[in-house]
Amino acid sequence: MTRAIIAAADWTLGVETAAGAPTGIYSAVCLACGAQAQPTDNERLPVEVWALKHTGRNPTHRQFKATAENFWRVTPAEDNPYRASDAQTPT
Ligand SMILES: [Zn+2]
Repeated sequence: MTRAIIAAADWTLGVETAAGAPTGIYSAVCLACGAQAQPTDNERLPVEVWALKHTGRNPTHRQFKATAENFWRVTPAEDNPYRASDAQTPT
């Protein structure tokens, strides 16, 4: 977690932990032809397998741009006045 002081209020940056939020979304694009793997939530293995199979079918296609998306949430720190109001409001 990262802590920063912004506009005189303390905020904390962390990983999004809301129900249903993926820990990551993984994908890859072939740099030779632009073919794209089906993005997957939480697991990168299916994308890796897709890349291997893609090269197996197209032996000259060996470079990929892999993408991993992560989600963050900023929350008020203990001394931040938004903490009390957030506690009363469902997110
Ligand atoms: Zn390709």
